[in-house]
Amino acid sequence: MNKKLFILLIVLTMICAILLAVGCDNHNEKAPGGDNTLPSGGQDDNLSGGDGAQQEHVHTYAVEWSSDKDFHWHAATCGHDLTADKSAHTFDENSMCVICKYYSSNGFLFELNQDNASYTVKGLEMDNDNTQIVIPSTYQGKPVTGIDNYAFRHCSDLISVSIPSSIESIGSYAFDGCNALKAVYITDISSWCKINFKGSFSNPLEYAQKLYLNNKLVTDLTIPAEITKFDIYAFYNCVDLSSITVDPNNAVYRSQDNCLIEKQTDRLVLGCKNSVIPEYVKSIGSSAFEGCRELTSIEIPSGVSFIGFYAFAGCENLTKIVIPSGVKIICDGVFKNCSSLESVNIPSGVMEIGMSAFSGCASLKNVEIPAGITDIGQGAFASCVNLTKIVIPVGVTNIGALAFVNCPKLTIYCELSGMQSGWKETWNGNCEVVFDYIRD
Ligand SMILES: [Zn+2]
Ligand SMILES: [Zn+2]
Repeated sequence: MNKKLFILLIVLTMICAILLAVGCDNHNEKAPGGDNTLPSGGQDDNLSGGDGAQQEHVHTYAVEWSSDKDFHWHAATCGHDLTADKSAHTFDENSMCVICKYYSSNGFLFELNQDNASYTVKGLEMDNDNTQIVIPSTYQGKPVTGIDNYAFRHCSDLISVSIPSSIESIGSYAFDGCNALKAVYITDISSWCKINFKGSFSNPLEYAQKLYLNNKLVTDLTIPAEITKFDIYAFYNCVDLSSITVDPNNAVYRSQDNCLIEKQTDRLVLGCKNSVIPEYVKSIGSSAFEGCRELTSIEIPSGVSFIGFYAFAGCENLTKIVIPSGVKIICDGVFKNCSSLESVNIPSGVMEIGMSAFSGCASLKNVEIPAGITDIGQGAFASCVNLTKIVIPVGVTNIGALAFVNCPKLTIYCELSGMQSGWKETWNGNCEVVFDYIRD
């Protein structure tokens, strides 16, 4: 009996010892996190019952802060997996933690620019599913000056984007596929005008169409005096523009009748739905009216001899246009997707019709191609679904691929007796072609 009792006592003692040891271990793991004195640990070792070896170990912690997106802490340097002083960051207005100096990326990915003095936004972090993003003006104490090519491509949930005045360039396709975008917020019109846009597909207005300056929709645009250079895509697709004025002290530009005009060249740089082109204007700049969907009619003065690329592209309510006789080139995309355009003339001096010049002009039934034309560009009349008759004059030596594709009602009459060597294989789409045509 005594022997059995003795064994039982030994077993119970062992169980107690094990339980005590386990309990202490757990305690060890928890204690330092909540302990704000550094270093800590001695107190926990005392609980384990007077084991001399453990009592001598004192956890040690790095002086430097460790951090992640949300917290900072001092990591143990003694080999234990412990932290001390762990707490959430306290950010100042520059998104820097005042305690550990950690910079929050606010859900953005950044890359240091080659100048080592500024950052470019590369896109969003994986777990950033914000729909209304505010791009910060600084990161790590340096200005954020660029938005990279493709940065927000396919961010199809984005509803709005705020672009700080520190941004100097926006890369191509930066907002490609952001179909839900409804608003672009800016705080300074000068810096917006100075942005270097890498093509029309770089401007988020491509989708948003609405530009807000200090939370007010931009309808009446005033170009400040100091703006002497102007990106043609800055107000691309800005459908709400109803007036354009330029500060009278501006040395390079003037405004008249809601047109922005370069003084030295009399070139119209930007127009809007209420523009009336002044008589003295000599040329119309590329994309000047591009995406101006509410423009219903416009008269181009007889002195205009050049109309730039895509100048009237996407003016889907424009029904009639008269091209002045001095114009020699119909530029690429100039009337692309003018889906209401029923009437347009091509002056007799024109030699070239550019790529996609009339593509998507779904209301166009009839176009006369004058005798002097030598080149008809790729896709020039593609998707002119109501075009019924076109005559190709003798002198046409080059016709680009798919110049007449998707023109289901069209018959092409050629004054020549056959295809020329400069005509691409697919020039006529599937349209019927009649050779040896003699004009009335
Ligand atoms: Zn330790
Ligand atoms: Zn911190």
